[in-house]
Amino acid sequence: MTEQILGVAIPFFILFILVEAAYSLWKKKDFYRVNDAVSSLSCGSVTILVEVFSKIPWILLYIYLFKNFSIVQFPISSIAAWIIFFMFNDFLYYWAHRLSHEINFLWSGHLPHHQSEEYNLTTALRQGALQGTIVFPIYLPMAILGCPIEMYLVLAVVNKLYQFWIHTRTIDKVPLIEGILNTPSAHRVHHAVNQAYVDRNYGGTFMVFDKWFGTWVEEDKANPAVYGVRKPYRSFNPIKAHIDWWIRLGKDAYHTKSWKDKIKLWFMPTGWRPKDVSNSHPWDTFDLASFEKYDPKVSSRRQWLSLTLYAIIAISIPTVLNLKGQLLIWQHALIVLAYLLLIYLANRLNY
Ligand SMILES: [Zn+2]
Repeated sequence: MTEQILGVAIPFFILFILVEAAYSLWKKKDFYRVNDAVSSLSCGSVTILVEVFSKIPWILLYIYLFKNFSIVQFPISSIAAWIIFFMFNDFLYYWAHRLSHEINFLWSGHLPHHQSEEYNLTTALRQGALQGTIVFPIYLPMAILGCPIEMYLVLAVVNKLYQFWIHTRTIDKVPLIEGILNTPSAHRVHHAVNQAYVDRNYGGTFMVFDKWFGTWVEEDKANPAVYGVRKPYRSFNPIKAHIDWWIRLGKDAYHTKSWKDKIKLWFMPTGWRPKDVSNSHPWDTFDLASFEKYDPKVSSRRQWLSLTLYAIIAISIPTVLNLKGQLLIWQHALIVLAYLLLIYLANRLNY
């Protein structure tokens, strides 16, 4: 069912992205750049390719817990269960999202979503391929409380679909729903690196959890959002994007002399580093005043090639995924690896 929902949604995603890009061009707003858009969409494609494999163990675990340890089992036809679990899933999303920002090793999964220094509808599709796997344990209470797997998977997709439209600079504040539902204004704050906006507005659909737990802040026009991360990625490589933070943490674990810190650093707040390593291998400090977007100039021919190659890759991915029942797992894995290489090449044209 989730694949059918996505099948219907994807043509709308493409349509709205084209409309937003045309609007940006018409109004001379510079909301879009080829290098950034291809990189963001590529991260989404990498996620689709990786999750074909990575979702299986977690779904099996969810079903096992639901069958053997759930305190009650709601039928899929229960309207009350849909409403209650929609809210509960959104509550768990708040914590999964918040912890993904605030704990070092969890940040590695969510980081790709925030690396874009633009903010448009392609950013919504810029997902971290490993994120679903890393935070999945947080959603297991859904199984224990009796949410059937089919219901959970649909709720997870609906939560993601809702968040598509909020990744835009074309919509100002929305009357009546600001502070209650997630909106473009609320989520622009979440993607900003301005000091006042960092680690704020974690909500998925509802913003009430941010209000309850003290992470809500309103967008201030006097402090326009600057997008990206405070350790700028400075690349368009969508493969390395997924391991960039792992590499940073791995290097720190290797360099520190303290065995305790080699373990501890993965579970500490995001950005925490062992003292000896932060002295011997300091990181650049982030300065908003001197921040410049990563935007290497390449010829328009290379940009068109990149866009065309990515379009061919994206259009062919669903056909290849549909073959999965007819292929051995190693054959499927080889095809996925070949796609990752092609996706890398499409982006390499832009830097
Ligand atoms: Zn986030």
